[in-house]
Amino acid sequence: MSVKYAYGYIRVSTHDQEEISPDSQEHLLRDYAAKNNIVILKIFTDLGISGRKANKRPGFQEMIGLAKGDDHPVDQILVWKFSRFARNQEESIVYKSLLKKQHNVDVVSVSEPLSDNPFGSLIERIIEWMDEYYSIRLSGEVYRGMKENALRGAYQARPPLGYKVVEHGKPPVIVPEEAKIVRTIFEKYTNEGMSFFDIARYLNSLGLKTSHGKPFERRSVEYIIQNPSYCGMIRWNRTENSTNRIKDKDEWIVTEGQQPAIISKELFESTQERFKATYKPVGKRPSSTYKHWLSGLLKCPDCGRTLTSTTMKRVNGEKYSYFSCYGYSKGKCKKPNGISSLVLEKEVLASIKEILDTKDIVYELREYQPTEQFDERKAITEQLESLTGKEERIKASYREGIDTLEEYKANKAIIQKERESFEQQLKELKKAAHKSDQDPADSMLQKVRSVYDILISNNYTYVQKNEALKQIIDKIIYDRKNDSLKIFFFLYR
Ligand SMILES: [Zn+2]
Repeated sequence: MSVKYAYGYIRVSTHDQEEISPDSQEHLLRDYAAKNNIVILKIFTDLGISGRKANKRPGFQEMIGLAKGDDHPVDQILVWKFSRFARNQEESIVYKSLLKKQHNVDVVSVSEPLSDNPFGSLIERIIEWMDEYYSIRLSGEVYRGMKENALRGAYQARPPLGYKVVEHGKPPVIVPEEAKIVRTIFEKYTNEGMSFFDIARYLNSLGLKTSHGKPFERRSVEYIIQNPSYCGMIRWNRTENSTNRIKDKDEWIVTEGQQPAIISKELFESTQERFKATYKPVGKRPSSTYKHWLSGLLKCPDCGRTLTSTTMKRVNGEKYSYFSCYGYSKGKCKKPNGISSLVLEKEVLASIKEILDTKDIVYELREYQPTEQFDERKAITEQLESLTGKEERIKASYREGIDTLEEYKANKAIIQKERESFEQQLKELKKAAHKSDQDPADSMLQKVRSVYDILISNNYTYVQKNEALKQIIDKIIYDRKNDSLKIFFFLYR
């Protein structure tokens, strides 16, 4: 059983019939800790506090402050009874859920074991539900306040392209040169039938920038097209604050605003009509369900961005991927550099085969630092560092006379054992990292051979093939114009 760390909390209530003394409470906490492999780092007390002073509870406040610390000093707070921890249901729920959800600290009553029986889990469920109820009520109030503001035509967000705020709390005013861009977007889209892509590319070719000072993308044009601010309306409650998810249209609040219009309401209406008629929801992206084994590895020869794939179907029903530059789809690259996986697969396999036959390979030697092992090492080191803090805390408890010498020694021994086990884990990791001292070119060819075998086999999924390739290949650049295929191999030292 792994060691847990805890604070103890003792409180004496002056009007409780069942009261037991602070010493007896402490005895019960220590007894429980010893039986459950828990190290009590410190016991906090609030004695003899009653009436109005009870609001303060300095011991309790100090303990909560420490328990919420970033170094996660304790896993649990031990109390004799839940009624010691909080003075009423509401306070208990607030603190318990805050400690559990945000800091992963459990409040444990040594005389009322909660989690072991069905009634316990029911109570926990109720706590969860209450918690939800409280946050819903809170956001409901916030929502109502903002809705009222919105309906009064107030301006809460920063204004979109075409406007600026001159005086806080007042409607924004038009920025003429930006307003010209906005008008161009609406007209090109609605009257000339240009696509979002084409409009973005057109604006970028003129060197124009969004309100964030960036080049235009497909979605920045799409966003502007749908924004009723431009015809003098204001819109609120379009997205969920926490997730940015776009809400259903009937939840939006659109009302007459106080800002001057940049385009006419008629133009805005016909724009919305064209948008509705041509808009196809993206839905599930086919590339995620049908991932090609070359996905993520192909780069554009012109701009270096990744080529993304669209799933295609041949007449005979066979699926394949058509790769093209992601930058092009965003209006940021001049050429699509499209290529079918049917062509590319053959080229890549032939090229690897040639390398294996000639044993002539160019590759980059990288420091040995695969993410998994790197993280593991980091995690163990962090554990070791936190032990030092824990040692200091039990030492302090001993010095302050809270723990006896025996208790201190016992706690110290437990921590020392943990330290040794972490150090052993670190040693084994290091050993594993240094086992091969063969010629790197041989290791590289060996790896290429085994990945090639995976690629030509039918036993592996595309995802597995893709993962295998990513162990040895950084990127692949196919330049159709010059008919050249470059594969960039790498090997961890
Ligand atoms: Zn490109």
